[in-house]
Amino acid sequence: MTAIEGVTDLSELNAEIAGCTECELAGTRTLSVPGEGRPDAQIMFIGEAPGYNEDQQGRPFVGQAGQFLDQLIASIGLRRADVFIANVIKCRPPQNQDPLPHQLQACDKWLQQQIAAIAPKMVITLGRFSMAKYFPGQAISRIHGQPNRFGQTIIVPMYHPAAALHQGSLRRVIEEDFKKLPPILKSALDEKKEPEPKPEIQQMRLL
Ligand code: URA
Repeated sequence: MTAIEGVTDLSELNAEIAGCTECELAGTRTLSVPGEGRPDAQIMFIGEAPGYNEDQQGRPFVGQAGQFLDQLIASIGLRRADVFIANVIKCRPPQNQDPLPHQLQACDKWLQQQIAAIAPKMVITLGRFSMAKYFPGQAISRIHGQPNRFGQTIIVPMYHPAAALHQGSLRRVIEEDFKKLPPILKSALDEKKEPEPKPEIQQMRLL
């Protein structure tokens, strides 16, 4: 990967993902779906796995759930091109089955490399499979919309947009959770701008 003025070129990584044969989904996919968006995005969304439309087009979230995601992104004053959208699984599981543990494990290296290259300030997990990466054993109904810091990154677990298509009452819940994102991002960015404490104060803290 080459970095130009702080912007990472993800095309090499995308090419590697396109040729991946680490699991059996390589044999059934039409196209792999690495993800898309700004290579230096401050916000990264991580969904589950490509569905039919994504597999045909090689792009994430282009079906009905994707339309709702676009609306949610617009509701916080952004466009799809301002963020990065990826999935935990880069190839469509047949019949949209849930990703299997060995598929999640085989695909994890791609997501890790994407996160390392993009270095987002905030990661929003969409649905239980991406949530489980950061909050294993937790219930989405309990922790959705609550930010948590992991090192330099804020992780916010959210319901999957497709959940609102199946259960209408969740639409409002997801919309309300999205409203919390701009102030969370702002305070994370402001925090970064705060001047470093003077050396003597740091020393006092060490005593
Ligand atoms: N659902 C996902 O989790 N990801 C997609 O790309 C599309 C639908």
